[in-house]
Amino acid sequence: MSRKRRAVIIGGSMSGLFTAAFLRQIGWDVDVFERSPVELVGRGAGITTHPELMEALEKSGAGIADLGIEVDRRIAIDGAGRIVGERPLRQILTSWDRLQRLLRATIDPAHYHLGRTFARVEQDGDKVRVHFAEGRIEQADLLVGGDGIRSGVRAEVAPDVQPIYAGYYIWRGAPAEADLAPATHAAIFPYFVFFLPPRQQVIGYPISGFDNDLRPGRRRYNFIWYRVGDAQRLKEMCVDRDGRQHEFSVPPPLIRDDLIGEMRADAETIMPEVFRDCLRNIARPFFTPIYDFSAPSIVFGRVALVGDAAASARPHMGFGVAKAGGDAQALADALREHDDIDAALAHYNAVRQPIGERIMLHGRKLGTHLGVDLKTEEDRRMWELLQNDHAMMDWIAVPNFLAG
Ligand SMILES: Cc1cc2nc3c(=O)[nH]c(=O)nc-3n(C[C@H](O)[C@H](O)[C@H](O)COP(=O)(O)OP(=O)(O)OC[C@H]3O[C@@H](n4cnc5c(N)ncnc54)[C@H](O)[C@@H]3O)c2cc1C
Repeated sequence: MSRKRRAVIIGGSMSGLFTAAFLRQIGWDVDVFERSPVELVGRGAGITTHPELMEALEKSGAGIADLGIEVDRRIAIDGAGRIVGERPLRQILTSWDRLQRLLRATIDPAHYHLGRTFARVEQDGDKVRVHFAEGRIEQADLLVGGDGIRSGVRAEVAPDVQPIYAGYYIWRGAPAEADLAPATHAAIFPYFVFFLPPRQQVIGYPISGFDNDLRPGRRRYNFIWYRVGDAQRLKEMCVDRDGRQHEFSVPPPLIRDDLIGEMRADAETIMPEVFRDCLRNIARPFFTPIYDFSAPSIVFGRVALVGDAAASARPHMGFGVAKAGGDAQALADALREHDDIDAALAHYNAVRQPIGERIMLHGRKLGTHLGVDLKTEEDRRMWELLQNDHAMMDWIAVPNFLAG
């Protein structure tokens, strides 16, 4: 009897867990190594869903039980809070925490290792030796890098591939449903809402409450505000409350109060009352700079990249987790169809690298709305099209865009 094949997976979030579930289904031994010493939490981040995500959740065994909240329409509002556009569109809005919980349940806890940080990999043709910062070494047939946009695995095998700052960032938070004024609740809570002042986007939608509480009164409202800021502005924002300079972003508890105060003051002059109310009820809003990239290859010998480690798009499509599921599924399909692991990995690369790139380019197209770095005639045409609220409702985070 031939020996069972083994994969070491780095990253215990979406793509790592999806990969573990799909590889186990084809008979591989899998172990997931996550650097966080404690269970991962998503700080209330909302996630829009797509048919591809549902399919990956179902097929991986995670399922879609109590996935989230369904809205039946999108609305656009103006600075006075008046509805200026409306589109019927059924969509389930979930949260990062819910997805993590569903996926986490698919793996035997004995094969999910917290507090293990990937350090480096050695390859010798058909084996990988994976070294961890804590000192242990694991041997396997395959190393999967599911360790996110700043992947350490990618840094080892493709150090030149770096995420690119998009020239804008978002302020985020999720006020509790119960804290919103009744007028705010009635006006926006049941909907996927757009407010689009010049070169900005404010997007809101309902998500579950703490511990995936879906009961009315216990849910939250996901709030996202896109703002333009060049690299110098971002650098200034990345100085934390203790005066320390961070390279890419600042952990939420360390974001300076003066930045939050400035943002709140801007909101008073820019936002309709419903979104001012949301912001007042977010105790500590935090910002996330927007980056994207796509690796020209996602396979390097016996190392395969999945999810954000392979390619990461600006979040306008809300498709990152669906892509993570698709990558994992494609990797397992290739390994099932080809007995030769290297041939399988070549197939995986040929199928998924172009998809990651396509999703990234689509994200850039949608990002033209913010008017940053418009280079081509097509960029300008897209920018012009997206100045219209109705077009934004038709393009942002809509299902089935890959089929188009
Ligand atoms: C503002 C915003 C909004 C978004 N909205 C949506 C949305 O609506 N819908 C959607 O589908 N997607 C959305 N996304 C994208 C989505 O969050 C990502 O695509 C998804 O989380 C990628 O999963 P991942 O597992 O590949 O990476 P991550 O979730 O980043 O996980 C990587 C994991 O690897 C671990 N790790 C890193 N380095 C090491 C190491 N050296 N050793 C061990 N472990 C390590 C990290 O701790 C982390 O747990 C959004 C993203 C952003 C920024």
